[in-house]
Amino acid sequence: MLTENRYYSYNQGLLPDGCTYCVRGEKLVLFVTGLCPRSCYFCPISDKKYGHDVIYANERKAASTEDIITESRLMQAKGAGITGGDPLMKLERTLKHILELKKTFGPSFHLHLYTSLNFVTEKTLKRLFEAGLDEIRFHFDFDEERFWKNITLAKKFSWKVGAEIPCIPTKVEEMKKVADVIAGYVDFLNLNELERADNEHSHLDEMGFKTIHQYSYATEGSVEAGLALAEYVKEKKYSYSVHLCTAKLKEKVQLRNRMKREAAMVKRSFDKVDDEGILTRGALYLPELAPGFKYREKLESADKEKMTATLQPLLEKIKKESALKDTDFCIDQEKPRILLSEFNARKFKRKFKTSGLLVAIVQEMPTADQLEIEVDFLD
Ligand code: SF4
Repeated sequence: MLTENRYYSYNQGLLPDGCTYCVRGEKLVLFVTGLCPRSCYFCPISDKKYGHDVIYANERKAASTEDIITESRLMQAKGAGITGGDPLMKLERTLKHILELKKTFGPSFHLHLYTSLNFVTEKTLKRLFEAGLDEIRFHFDFDEERFWKNITLAKKFSWKVGAEIPCIPTKVEEMKKVADVIAGYVDFLNLNELERADNEHSHLDEMGFKTIHQYSYATEGSVEAGLALAEYVKEKKYSYSVHLCTAKLKEKVQLRNRMKREAAMVKRSFDKVDDEGILTRGALYLPELAPGFKYREKLESADKEKMTATLQPLLEKIKKESALKDTDFCIDQEKPRILLSEFNARKFKRKFKTSGLLVAIVQEMPTADQLEIEVDFLD
């Protein structure tokens, strides 16, 4: 039986290259489209992405290649995992991004891509390979075997090839079938612990799957199914490596490492950063755009330029009144508000309130959406 490695996952043989970058938090997640030919009952994609032709670079909605490059720079990415939906549903776009990322960051910028087997042809694979893709991973559909034979085409090119499947406790026989079919055609098999998702289109609960405990998204019996499969691959002496990627790895290692990298780049001089990369800062909000009911929706539709212009004279006023330096404050144009240190927010809260601003201490992610974890409005 395999034992847990230092990333809280399990591996038999070497970790795939894409996973090695990923666990260090060095990979940008490039979501090229939410369009997908499949409708898996375990689909983890959020409702705002699934079925919608949208592009995201990590949490940043990307309107242009420049946005993708900016996000890569902000996290000091050493590569990108290209995902969706199915990136092959937008092949020209995917190729364009591969070419641009390689051109901008050089040939060592590691790119891996996830796709179903549905649209795989030799011609498509050749174009992806020639554009510079380093690693390709195929998602097998247990209930649709007619595309499985396409896996044989990928080894014609000198990149790394992998198969990727969810560990579904009731599908161990199907998983074994995939393990047999891929032998000789892949370098690795990546097994994902099955996780419950907060979306409308997955149905794990309705199908009777349970999480390991009430605060976890991991599914009961999934790791065990993965370990049983790893044992099967060993018994069969298949030459490919196996990595069982757990929910704990994604949360405790990969996400945390990425947050730390992003925090180091985006933190202002007055921000406090904890060892998970979470920022603590003071924030002064206009009452019409402060965290609370429907804040995210309001942010989406806000006239940010106008609100920033409203904040500018208030900033000048409070600077004078509190006798602080220019570097002690800044206006955040993405979430129109004034940012400052927790210390100064507490110290001068009365003055700020008399200017009509709401004063809060916020803890938030260092990501492009600066997702709030906790907002404490000061009395
Ligand atoms: S899990 Fe992947 S392949 Fe399945 S529906 Fe969701 S995006 Fe498509």
